[in-house]
Amino acid sequence: MGGTSDASLLARRLHQDAVPAVFSYAGATRSPAVQPLPTRCGGFGGVPGLVQFIRAHGISHVVDASHPFAAQMSRNACAACAQTGTPLLALERPAWQPEAGDRWVTVPDMDAAARALPTAPARVFLAVGRKQLAAFSPLAQHRYLLRVVDMPEPGSLPVQGATVLVARGPFGAEGERALLTEHRIEWLVTKNAGGEATRGKLKAARALGLPVIMVQRPDLPARNSTDSVDRVMHWLAHEGVAGAMPSMP
Ligand code: NAP
Repeated sequence: MGGTSDASLLARRLHQDAVPAVFSYAGATRSPAVQPLPTRCGGFGGVPGLVQFIRAHGISHVVDASHPFAAQMSRNACAACAQTGTPLLALERPAWQPEAGDRWVTVPDMDAAARALPTAPARVFLAVGRKQLAAFSPLAQHRYLLRVVDMPEPGSLPVQGATVLVARGPFGAEGERALLTEHRIEWLVTKNAGGEATRGKLKAARALGLPVIMVQRPDLPARNSTDSVDRVMHWLAHEGVAGAMPSMP
């Protein structure tokens, strides 16, 4: 299950080591990164569709390297692997932790993030993708800066009058600082994605003393997970037993 830079790193290792594998994209972006593995695109059709896919393709191991906020996919993977007895390992980056100088307001979800913004008009960078923007549509007093992977169709965004940037990470701290300064941003809203590729905005906000509304990760069923591609490779080679914890020698 792909859709992250970690999934792309894993795909390269699987290809290098000639591990037979299929890479799966949701089909959420118009031109996803090309992978060195056979690639399929689009939903499976819920848990029953994924169960059928696992059986039809003789899948022996599932690695869920989807985004930490792709909760539905991760829940489906847990359920389908449980039903089919297929070993499952999640490849996920640790959540970001606040550092000295950070001004974070931690919230459980996007609705709470919208409620955490001030009532007075503010200039807000919504670094949250486009799927959950509707939470901010009632708050029309703010000026929003959005960054998305694909140019949205005219009128398709639930927030009006936003400045829209189309760009794909990674985004370094210097560029992020320049962006926040240029748009005179006063508040940053972000999901706690973790990882280095999009950490730059946090460093920039810290340097500028800006408050950050940090949306916590969704709850997921208990599952084995690692943040290391090496551990995934080791697990595939040695430990693909349902319920086994990944461990390195
Ligand atoms: P989601 O809400 O968890 O998934 C919605 C549905 O999309 C799933 O039920 C599944 O459809 C399909 N799907 C999701 N990931 C898939 C995959 N890798 N392969 C095949 N089908 C997949 O996911 P999302 O938040 O819309 O994210 C969509 C994709 O974008 C994911 O692959 C994710 O890794 C990536 N992404 C998400 C975020 C984010 O913030 N959510 C950020 C960066 C990248 P069926 O039920 O029909 O199987």
